[in-house]
Amino acid sequence: MSGAAPAGLPSEAALEAGDARYLRRAIALADEGRTRGNRPFGAVVVGADGEVLAEAFCNTTETGDCTCHAETNAVRKVSPRYSREVLAGATLYSSAEPCVMCAGAIFWSNIGRVVYGIDAVRLRVFRGERLDQRDAELSCRDVFEAAPNGIACIGPALIDEASRSHQGAWK
Ligand SMILES: [Zn+2]
Repeated sequence: MSGAAPAGLPSEAALEAGDARYLRRAIALADEGRTRGNRPFGAVVVGADGEVLAEAFCNTTETGDCTCHAETNAVRKVSPRYSREVLAGATLYSSAEPCVMCAGAIFWSNIGRVVYGIDAVRLRVFRGERLDQRDAELSCRDVFEAAPNGIACIGPALIDEASRSHQGAWK
């Protein structure tokens, strides 16, 4: 579904069936990570031919490493294994809009396309006001649009499904 959103909120993007399938996988990975005590974020990198190149979830709680976000974890998996040319044709699916760190990692990996679920604005309702849970309020699009290689960005999408992972997950 796509259409007008309440004032101040990004409108939902419609997805093709293939994109929806991989984004749902990223959302499932978010839930998997949550069952292990982590923040609920998941990511999948898919090559131009539809091959899944990597799957990851946020594991900052398990590792104690604040950089272990789902998307950055996924980039760490694909970057040593695949060429920049292969990654240029790849899509990273993320259950939520990438933060500035992950947007930077995606840029450096040369991944050419991003599809995400819940946007950062809607996510802030779940994050609340606790300083250690707030994000830097810079859109991933600001990073992607500044990139010389041009990174396509689609989202928010499947907002209701992507939001479900966050219900009750933040205190
Ligand atoms: Zn991140």
